[in-house]
Amino acid sequence: MESKPSLLGSILHMRCPYCRKGRFYVSHPYDLKRAGDNLEECPVCHRAYSVEYGFYMGAMYVSYALSVAVGLGAYLLTRWLFPSVTMGWQIVIVGGVTLAVAPLMYAYSKIIYGYIFLPYKGPSDPGYRPVRRADAWK
Ligand SMILES: [Zn+2]
Repeated sequence: MESKPSLLGSILHMRCPYCRKGRFYVSHPYDLKRAGDNLEECPVCHRAYSVEYGFYMGAMYVSYALSVAVGLGAYLLTRWLFPSVTMGWQIVIVGGVTLAVAPLMYAYSKIIYGYIFLPYKGPSDPGYRPVRRADAWK
């Protein structure tokens, strides 16, 4: 029997919340044309990533918290490394760092939100038959 992949490692590697093995996103977060586009279902366990329309709207609260944490971290690091830097440069540095990691924070906010509401179920359920979206509306 396989061991359960770690929560933190699975989040950092942007894996499926259900099985922690399949990819979650279509592409890399810095592929800006497809940033934040997640797959419809896990390529490993075939469970749907979105349980209802607009499911990931709540991820904006996670994104806000991550952005505040990154901005505060950049500010404190700047104050510690360069204590004599002016307020104008602090704003430029904190704004630049926050802007540079924004695609990554957006991707992680959706993943973290998914991990909050989509429970770990293992690689597969015996007898599980995936329901495709197109089939669900018939
Ligand atoms: Zn999966």
